[in-house]
Amino acid sequence: MEWTGHSEHLTAAVGMTQVWRPDTTEEAWRLKRQYGTFASYVAGGTWLRTRWESGSSVLPPYLISLDKIAPLQAIQQLESEQEAVELRIGAAVTLAAIESHPLAGGAVPLLGKAVSAVAAPSVRRQATIGGNVMSRSGDLIPALLALDAVIVSYSQGQYERQPLAEWLAGDGGDCDKLTVGFELKQVGGSCWFRKIGRRETFTPSVITIACAYRADSTAGRLLDVRIAVGGAGMAPVRLYEAETAAESGASGASVYAAVRKGIPSVADDYASAAYRRMAAANVIAAELDRAASG
Ligand SMILES: Cc1cc2nc3c(=O)[nH]c(=O)nc-3n(C[C@H](O)[C@H](O)[C@H](O)COP(=O)(O)OP(=O)(O)OC[C@H]3O[C@@H](n4cnc5c(N)ncnc54)[C@H](O)[C@@H]3O)c2cc1C
Repeated sequence: MEWTGHSEHLTAAVGMTQVWRPDTTEEAWRLKRQYGTFASYVAGGTWLRTRWESGSSVLPPYLISLDKIAPLQAIQQLESEQEAVELRIGAAVTLAAIESHPLAGGAVPLLGKAVSAVAAPSVRRQATIGGNVMSRSGDLIPALLALDAVIVSYSQGQYERQPLAEWLAGDGGDCDKLTVGFELKQVGGSCWFRKIGRRETFTPSVITIACAYRADSTAGRLLDVRIAVGGAGMAPVRLYEAETAAESGASGASVYAAVRKGIPSVADDYASAAYRRMAAANVIAAELDRAASG
């Protein structure tokens, strides 16, 4: 890779590809708007690189690196009350930084568990939360959905906040939009996170499950249950019906049925839709039953 000075930015020539390293959100967006589909934002590059190497997508003529944009690298506490922490995590914060940050991986256990379950430490030192979510298939998405996260994006001089669940339900719309960060709130309670794979070592997850809840031990009830699932090739979703069933104290069989109903029907070369539904329903119904019975 050869580094050359260009305009006010340092750019690198990688073969025929030029890498721009803007200092601000506005400049990054302007470059993307200028080059359109000939450019791609790049954060850690770990997801993009596997796609270029496998031939699933082509290295574009321009890359817009996000590594010099300070607000995208920051973890900021918005508010802290008793038992509640509200955070903004910049899109280009690495998974390793989240893992070791006392307010992120530490104070938000569901996020901490999800981050630790992604790839190996060497990948986590480069991979970012923004890249994970923007790939639309990352393992962090179910955890962020269960935390009711909000995605903050920038386009044409405007910042926009949107619930992540709503953003995922859309088609992504304006592909020049830059994701600036995520806002989330941790309000105590318990949580668990599971990646069901075909074997222990890294393979794309068959299904990823994130769950948060509060347990009312005197009444033997679960409150504020939030369950989200994702996995290779499947659009991540919240399982609202299963959440309501669990909160109402419905039987394990009803929770099981609601989970099966809520999981999108997606199969790939490794797992059928029926297997995904069954695996998720077994795990979720068993875990919630254990939580309710203390
Ligand atoms: C060996 C290996 C193992 C892996 N294991 C896992 C795993 O277990 N679980 C998992 O979820 N993933 C896994 N991955 C995939 C990947 O590492 C992660 O999803 C990672 O978090 C992606 O982040 P990144 O910064 O590298 O994204 P990049 O590759 O830089 O970008 C990903 C996509 O997001 C876009 N993008 C990035 N940032 C922004 C932004 N701020 N605004 C708009 N668009 C943006 C890019 O244009 C690109 O389309 C693995 C990858 C490798 C190589």
